[in-house]
Amino acid sequence: MTFLAPRSLSEALELRAAHPAAVPLAGGTDVMVGVNAGTRRPALLDLTRVPELREWTVRDGIVRLGAGVTYSRVVRELSRLLPGLSAAGATVGSAQIRNRATVGGNVATASPAGDGVPPLIAAGAEVELSSVREVRRIPLARFATGPKRTVLAADELVTAVLVPVRTGPQAFAKIGGRNAMVIAVANVAVDLRPDRREVGAAIGAAAATVRHAPAAAHLAATELNWAARHPADTALLREFGALIAAAAAPIDDVRGTAAYRRHALAVIAARALGWAWDEYRATTRNEEPFCTSP
Ligand SMILES: Cc1cc2nc3c(=O)[nH]c(=O)nc-3n(C[C@H](O)[C@H](O)[C@H](O)COP(=O)(O)OP(=O)(O)OC[C@H]3O[C@@H](n4cnc5c(N)ncnc54)[C@H](O)[C@@H]3O)c2cc1C
Repeated sequence: MTFLAPRSLSEALELRAAHPAAVPLAGGTDVMVGVNAGTRRPALLDLTRVPELREWTVRDGIVRLGAGVTYSRVVRELSRLLPGLSAAGATVGSAQIRNRATVGGNVATASPAGDGVPPLIAAGAEVELSSVREVRRIPLARFATGPKRTVLAADELVTAVLVPVRTGPQAFAKIGGRNAMVIAVANVAVDLRPDRREVGAAIGAAAATVRHAPAAAHLAATELNWAARHPADTALLREFGALIAAAAAPIDDVRGTAAYRRHALAVIAARALGWAWDEYRATTRNEEPFCTSP
């Protein structure tokens, strides 16, 4: 088995260009499932020794999260800066899986049920794709084109996810067959931006790719009383949930029917918006911008 083990990003990009058939390997929690089952035996491009991919920084209002940052680190180090991603990350697999599983792997695997993707899309994240030719950034919402399909070119790697620093609360909710070690039957993320009176909302396991729910987000942004911080009306939360469900195009599969997924999305979306709004209401008007440091 060919095993390529670059020690720097430039070496990784050169090897990627020279061996386009080699499969990038980050935590391996998706890749090795197939390898261990004997269904595939590809050449591997191991990214775990590339230090640049393991860094995260905050600069000019953007959190730059290296593709190789694990979910254990997201939960440990980024729960204040990226609470939506952190909440989602805490539900990924088990402690052992989270110690290996990376944000970049979660994004690149392009599962419609990937838990880290809705919070990132709700927050307006971009993904950075690098090759020896160029570095480009695209909205994360446009990265996956279907289950396990992306716009990644054969010589590109996902090098980072770029997330605007939040100005308000974020919430994530997920439903599955049990409480832990479970692939989402549906998941949803909400991002409140009080500075612009905007809301971001994204849903997963609800269509071929994780997607925005713009009508629901618009309703919340225009109907919530940002100035007076009144409690969210139950009817508004229900209508928000209904618009979230309407944004979905789910399928029947072994984990749930399309009808159940729509119902579940409506319920967990209303809850997530309620949690985020209650957190916003609990802050005082004079508080500094919600979070600018870890
Ligand atoms: C027991 C178990 C439980 C799980 N539970 C969950 C869960 O609850 N929620 C969830 O979302 N996921 C879950 N997963 C799936 C998996 O853990 C996540 O998708 C994880 O984030 C993948 O990251 P990784 O670093 O292990 O990726 P890898 O397995 O290394 O790679 C995944 C894919 O991304 C590609 N890739 C990785 N890094 C890059 C890069 N930098 N550039 C280009 N391509 C790259 C690989 O070639 C591969 O196609 C689970 C997996 C297991 C085995």
